[in-house]
Amino acid sequence: MSKKFVYMFKEGNGKMRELLGGKGANLAEMTNLGLPVPQGFTISTEACTQYYEDGKQINKDIQAEIMENIDKLEKLVGKKFGDKKNPLLVSVRSGARASMPGMMDTILNLGLNEEVVEVIAEKSGNPRWAWDCYRRFIQMYSDVVMEVGKKYFEQLIDKMKEKKGVTQDVELTADDLKELASQFKAEYKNKIGKDFPADPKEQLFGAIKAVFRSWDNPRANIYRMDHDIPYSWGTAVNVQMMAFGNMGNDSGTGVAFTRNPATGEKGLMGEFLVNAQGEDVVAGVRTPMPIAQMKDVFPEAFAQFEQVCKTLENHYRDMQDMEFTIENKKLYMLQTRNGKRTAAAAIKIACDLIDEKMISEKEAIMQIDAKSLDMLLHPTFDVAALKNADKNNVVGKGIAASPGAATGTIVFTAEDAVEEGKKGKKVILVRLETSPEDIEGMKYAQGILTVRGGQTSHAAVVARGMGTCCVSGCGDIKMHEEEKYFELAGKTFREGDSLSLDGSTGNIYDCAIKTVPADPNSGYFGRIMALADKYKAVGVRTNADTPADAKQAVAFGAQGIGLCRTEHMFFDPDRIGAFREMICSDTVEEREAALAKIEPMQQADFEGLFEALGGYPVTIRFLDPPLHEFVPTDEADIAALAKAQGKTVTRIKEIIDSLHEFNPMMGHRGCRLTVTYPEIAVMQTKAIIKAAIKVQKKHKDWKLVPEIMIPLTGEVKEMKFVKDIVVKTADAEIKAAGANLKYEVGTMIEIPRAAITADEIATEAEFFCFGTNDLTQMTFGFSRDDAGKFLGSYYQNKIYESDPFARLDQKGVGSLMKTAVTLGRKTRPDMHCGICGEHGGDPSSVEFCHNIGLSYVSCSPFRVPIARLAAAQANIKNPRK
Ligand code: PEP
Ligand code: MG
Repeated sequence: MSKKFVYMFKEGNGKMRELLGGKGANLAEMTNLGLPVPQGFTISTEACTQYYEDGKQINKDIQAEIMENIDKLEKLVGKKFGDKKNPLLVSVRSGARASMPGMMDTILNLGLNEEVVEVIAEKSGNPRWAWDCYRRFIQMYSDVVMEVGKKYFEQLIDKMKEKKGVTQDVELTADDLKELASQFKAEYKNKIGKDFPADPKEQLFGAIKAVFRSWDNPRANIYRMDHDIPYSWGTAVNVQMMAFGNMGNDSGTGVAFTRNPATGEKGLMGEFLVNAQGEDVVAGVRTPMPIAQMKDVFPEAFAQFEQVCKTLENHYRDMQDMEFTIENKKLYMLQTRNGKRTAAAAIKIACDLIDEKMISEKEAIMQIDAKSLDMLLHPTFDVAALKNADKNNVVGKGIAASPGAATGTIVFTAEDAVEEGKKGKKVILVRLETSPEDIEGMKYAQGILTVRGGQTSHAAVVARGMGTCCVSGCGDIKMHEEEKYFELAGKTFREGDSLSLDGSTGNIYDCAIKTVPADPNSGYFGRIMALADKYKAVGVRTNADTPADAKQAVAFGAQGIGLCRTEHMFFDPDRIGAFREMICSDTVEEREAALAKIEPMQQADFEGLFEALGGYPVTIRFLDPPLHEFVPTDEADIAALAKAQGKTVTRIKEIIDSLHEFNPMMGHRGCRLTVTYPEIAVMQTKAIIKAAIKVQKKHKDWKLVPEIMIPLTGEVKEMKFVKDIVVKTADAEIKAAGANLKYEVGTMIEIPRAAITADEIATEAEFFCFGTNDLTQMTFGFSRDDAGKFLGSYYQNKIYESDPFARLDQKGVGSLMKTAVTLGRKTRPDMHCGICGEHGGDPSSVEFCHNIGLSYVSCSPFRVPIARLAAAQANIKNPRK
């Protein structure tokens, strides 16, 4: 039997999201639950993949299958496409496996033409509604299918409103809308050179193709990269009989959540508009009413809706985000999905659902998006500064759409936000309303302020997803977007002026307000993190070079330091001098003199780290400076160095020239430095051992076992050479102190050769830690410093879907890691193996590390909570024996 590409809602169910997409699967599930769903069918994600395989064509077989299902739908609902008595109108909407709000396209009221519009006008006795539907359809079809651009139609609407002396779309009469429909069609012909299509079937195939095409639009591609959604998944298309919210004051449309998506508070939250169609609420064109008011306007439908919410939440055992329409007082459900939420809401909802006995602890852990925890670590306003600003600087209030505190200077376009943001400037993006094209700019903005739109507007939904502060729907703003200024509270605000937003209260301030880092150790956070620790198998350490960073990481739950980059301890201006003296030494004696200056600094640093970790393991990596990062370039610095070393400026310049490397990332760094200058390893060993002995003496109950890590090893003899120096020096220090200290000497695995010969390397190395930054660089042959310049073209051409320096390449780099773990443990079965490259804080990479049996992941302090949760999720999915 040939493959089935189209499923009536009755044929599907909630488990079929891979095939039917999230929206299609849930429409099927709601149908099965007996909820009031306008019927329809779903064209599968496989049909989308097939469309691309067939060179962006819907092939004959799939076309025929779609038409068969149109027949079925016509019979089911007793209406027909293009019929003069009972015409069928449908919506055509995208729906991928993972929800991608606002990223792809939707078309409503499809099936209308000059004749059908008259039929429905007459039949309903509501010509205003009929013409409103038609003008909307022409507008959406032209925009989505033919890419004419919304703005031309919006200009025509604005002109019409001006001519009629009204401000709202709903004030336009049937005749006005009829006139608009014909203006729209003329505009279409003018732009496309052909008449607007009248045949519903032609319209339908145009719309389906447009949805498939939208899978590959730039904003969907950006969204997918940010959310690790593979391109190969494709989108499904849902064709559904229309329910009309714009039939008059007995109709309406809305969006609601069963719990507050910003705070997690239990209780219905949402918005609705009377006499409107779906997109009006989310697009933010009109500012909607709170859902509670629906009780007064549509009491019966509201009571039914409350019941449906309960049914859905109990069924999915998670907070639901629903779209509905009321047509002549009757409720229709158009969509339900597990709602997107802020991290604060996610942890509260997860805890509440455990307490309500709806879900288990493990299910609660699986429900939270580990990456989103980052939001809890965002700054808030300094309390005193905010108090002062509350007294003197409040200029307006909008809807508190996405929590957080934002301070920056005003920009008016997404492009400006990107440009300024790239320069490191903090900006607030102020827009009439945002649209999905603004997504890049929103990413760069500290905060987003919109004039229109409510809690569920595009700006609000997207900002919450990103963890960016957003205040929406501040209708008091008089906006002059083109001229780049706005007026509020009698003041004029221009590009570059300071502005602050409080995403939790909706307050807008005409000044900069000091922000402070967040305190994530709130009750729910603590509870979820404790659960994460209960269920995780892989340890979580941190990459930290200072006691302050280390303390922060321990507060976030780190169980050790997986990487201390000792060269970073010398970025400080007071210290860099001694470091430069070391690298610009001509003789061993000179170098030893410089090292003698450095040793006490290092010892103090290490004591601080051991103290901060409170007895947890600490891995200290030997110097690994790409030398070019440290040599002086400034004339004054060169002169100072010459003076300190008693050399001429010319001599120092000669030395600097001799240190020049064509490829510093593959140059004289890592253990290669020790092979050439063993005295550096001697100094660092002494500093580590002395610090450990001193701290151990102070804390008798701790069992300090410093881990000395050799970077960039590629050959066992090289490892042995360095280890011999370490052991000789360390043992002598321990003996001289009369101490009883154990220590380990291990290596980073960051050169492919080390991974492939890991069994040999493990004869010397007592532990491994994967430096996946270098391992990725050397496996791909991409320079870490330069790859950004060309990777963009690789994403555009779908050669790579994500940055291999951010998300582990499991196939290539991952395979080397697996080999190294297996070979290493063959030689030394109980050796600990960790990861300390940037991937250690990326959830999908953490899962991979769990699966290949690593002992721990190590990441920057602010990613420790993410790694803890991701580690628990990995172990729940694939329990470690
Ligand atoms: C690595 O290469 O992954 C690593 C952690 O070391 P660095 O980034 O310091 O080279
Ligand atoms: Mg490295």
